[in-house]
Amino acid sequence: MPVHVFHHPLSLSHNPGPGHPESSERLAAILDELRGPSFEGMICWREASGANEHQLLRAHSESYLELLREVADRGGGRLDADTVMGRSSYEAAVVGAGAAIEAAKTALAGQPAFAAIRPPGHHALRDAAMGFCLLNNVVIAARAALEESGAGRVLIVDWDVHHGNGTQAMVETDPRIRYVSLHQWPLYPGTGRADERGVGNIFNVPRPPGLARSTYVGDLIAAVAFAVDGWRPDLILLSAGFDAMAGDPLAGFTLEPEDYPIWVGEWRRMGVPMASVLEGGYVPSRIRRAAGEHVRALAE
Ligand SMILES: [Zn+2]
Repeated sequence: MPVHVFHHPLSLSHNPGPGHPESSERLAAILDELRGPSFEGMICWREASGANEHQLLRAHSESYLELLREVADRGGGRLDADTVMGRSSYEAAVVGAGAAIEAAKTALAGQPAFAAIRPPGHHALRDAAMGFCLLNNVVIAARAALEESGAGRVLIVDWDVHHGNGTQAMVETDPRIRYVSLHQWPLYPGTGRADERGVGNIFNVPRPPGLARSTYVGDLIAAVAFAVDGWRPDLILLSAGFDAMAGDPLAGFTLEPEDYPIWVGEWRRMGVPMASVLEGGYVPSRIRRAAGEHVRALAE
């Protein structure tokens, strides 16, 4: 079954500055990989449209959206220690959120989907940018699925090596959403302890760096199985960062590109629609292969 890949040229125009790890080369490498001959016939390319204000306000405050527009209008600026906007960054974030929404809706309509976008989203808070993230794409997509597409339960699985503190903060009082995160501990952003449980809907799997690949893979599979026991989701949204791979400059997990299809293969057996949204991952030559293996698995 072809994978619907949602993208937009604006995603490449967001530039946080020279030497910043969250560069457009990351996404350019993934798009180049997916345009390769071995993916021919496997991908249905879709240009994303932007999320509307109403959809963004399900995750963020009006004053924060106004701040982002103001910073973009004056040509850009720094929002926190490592989150920088340029003139087109707000537009890039809005089409990124739109791509995530459309990927979720496409999955619910029966087709697997991947939002190949940046900036990433899972550190973004209701009122603040954080950790390279402006808008929380996966939460915006989850809420759209719940409010607009008739989904009753959404499972977010976050395998980015960092804890999605923004995602957790936004959903931890919303029992319609369950959030499972595998992440390095201790590490930025410093949240994600196993005893942070929300309303019983948060499932954190903090792990030290340097463990065997199979341990990380197995521990996330076990956590997802626990989270869905007696709670069948209508949609699985993947917060798909690829910075848990060996060699990533920001962290110390040990995954290889071949590990990502194991997760998708495992969860496909649930028979639940699955959509995926790009998060982090900072070695373009590595993440292109991982994202490619991931998309291949979604297509199976
Ligand atoms: Zn990350």
